[in-house]
Amino acid sequence: TPTLRLDRLLANMGYGSRREVQQLARAGIVTLDGAVIEDADQRIAVTRDLSDRMQIKGKPLDPPPGLTLMLHKPRGVTCSHKEAGPLVYGLLPDRWRNRDPAISTIGRLDKDTSGLLLLTDDGSLLHRIISPRAHVPKRYHVTLDRPLRGDEVDIFAAGTLLLDGEDKPLLPVQMEVLSSTSAYVILTEGRYHQVRRMFAAVGNHVTDLHRDQIGRLTLPEDLGPGQYRVLEESDLSLVL
Ligand code: URA
Repeated sequence: TPTLRLDRLLANMGYGSRREVQQLARAGIVTLDGAVIEDADQRIAVTRDLSDRMQIKGKPLDPPPGLTLMLHKPRGVTCSHKEAGPLVYGLLPDRWRNRDPAISTIGRLDKDTSGLLLLTDDGSLLHRIISPRAHVPKRYHVTLDRPLRGDEVDIFAAGTLLLDGEDKPLLPVQMEVLSSTSAYVILTEGRYHQVRRMFAAVGNHVTDLHRDQIGRLTLPEDLGPGQYRVLEESDLSLVL
């Protein structure tokens, strides 16, 4: 288990500068297992249960480093640290913007796409999930402007479809027709605007796109747009 000095841990979690968190400790408002820690030099074992055991001003500590979240991304927010406009990071507590290591999205959803988005501060987890070799299946609910022609399932399953401007065909995509204008598609790779461009390639237009599954992890019914939840270890095993 990694250990960190209390002041380094709290500063890295966005609670303030090292000086500021030293003052919090000296003020007697940092507790571990019910006992006050005044000495900010004290080394703390950074374990997942720390938010149950440590309190700051009587409030549970934020999730310590090694954090993975699922977010129900609403339409209209962007998966970027840099761009202008509403960002997915704005849906998280302000303090979390100052965390080190930083929290980043695991892959991206378009601004106009809603649904299940994972975020993590764990670089090795991020790379294991987004690696082009990982092929973690992702399911999207697609709503279309025009009725399906009927040949889309076979065209997507063939593994021969070339998107406009690309020279490498898409991997086979499984599609389940739900109605004449809606379907599920399951991608095992993530090209730029892939679902929208696939349907453009068969003469249609996606009017609504929502991801509801990554691996075997499903967006919970009770997690509304804009809400997030810290993932348990057992949820993570559904994705890897
Ligand atoms: N395909 C898209 O077109 N957009 C997404 O956000 C994800 C997959």
